[in-house]
Amino acid sequence: MSVFSELGQEYEEVVHFHDPDSGLKAIVAIHSTALGPALGGTRFFPFPSEQEALRDVLRLARGMTYKAAAAGLDLGGGKAVILGDPKRDKSERLFRAYGRFIESLGGRYVTAEDVGTGREDMDILRRETRWVTGVSKRLGGSGDPSPVTAYGVFQGLRACAEEALQTASLDGISIVVSGVGKVGYHLVGHLAEAGVKVTVADVDVDAVGRAVSNFGVDTVEPDKAHAVECDIFAPCALGGAIRDDTVPELKCKVVAGAANNQLERPEHADALAELGILYAPDFVINAGGLINVADELIGYDRDRAMARVEGIYRTLREVFRRARLEGITPAAAATRLAEDRVREVSRVRLLYLPEDPRP
Ligand code: NAD
Repeated sequence: MSVFSELGQEYEEVVHFHDPDSGLKAIVAIHSTALGPALGGTRFFPFPSEQEALRDVLRLARGMTYKAAAAGLDLGGGKAVILGDPKRDKSERLFRAYGRFIESLGGRYVTAEDVGTGREDMDILRRETRWVTGVSKRLGGSGDPSPVTAYGVFQGLRACAEEALQTASLDGISIVVSGVGKVGYHLVGHLAEAGVKVTVADVDVDAVGRAVSNFGVDTVEPDKAHAVECDIFAPCALGGAIRDDTVPELKCKVVAGAANNQLERPEHADALAELGILYAPDFVINAGGLINVADELIGYDRDRAMARVEGIYRTLREVFRRARLEGITPAAAATRLAEDRVREVSRVRLLYLPEDPRP
């Protein structure tokens, strides 16, 4: 396979790291550093083939450029994958080798946790590289991003309610939260406090039990959650909640939640628009976690991170306004917003300065 043909007209750099002693095989993809260092997590996963690992890391790195740009961050987009089984193949040696390789990129790529990696792994990386976020609080880290992501989604839901339900308050509206794990649970807390009629679904009965006993919410079976009549359907589980078989059964006015890749295919954004259902692009509304770890790069301050996360409300208002004005879907408007910012800011940064003033 030709790597260059996979890269198309995009991507700045793709690096393969190999440490035979620990068995480390990793690929780092830097999609863009136009706005700043490329930040994105490291996914540790038993990919069926190297080609699939490469395709995944390229796709994910590109997504990070859009997410950071739309969130107004001074960050580019990148991602990394480690090929292997995290349950079997993790070792101190492997992560230290990986950390040294990341350090060798000189800060062009900054890593974080993702599927298959966690805070303990980031702490090991920190012993070898500065270019890691999501480390423990004792090392200057920001801790679990999930409550911050949930707060960002909550702010985004306010923008959705204004746009689709013509109300500035969530009090009395009905929201179905599908997936009450780390993010969904905290989101339900905010919603219950705001007076929302909440219904939850999860394949994990303990997760449902926790939400019911702490917030007194209603429940629905996970495979029926999307079909409940409500104001907002909030996918907060895995990706692909909006697909060919679920779209015709939706009875909500808005789809907006924390999950990544909510649309199984990009065309589902058009399908929602045709049904008159407002869609909050996932990479805009769930950017709270990224905004939170990005703050670690300038010395983590939770109040500053939370204030920034509140900006998701304004960003979504702008996305919806642009979608209306230009007659396009919110998903397309969010993509344009991100692309415009990358283009405009990178142009400004062509101006010569003797030293880079940014922190
Ligand atoms: P999590 O694993 O803690 O929670 C996911 C929950 O979904 C679990 O309780 C699981 O049992 C449930 N679930 C799985 N399949 C389901 C189904 N078919 N129907 C209903 N529930 C189901 O994960 P999380 O950290 O809460 O993340 C949730 C989503 O948000 C993911 O898509 C994640 O990529 C995205 N996200 C998370 C963060 C973050 O800060 N954690 C940031 C951005 C995006």
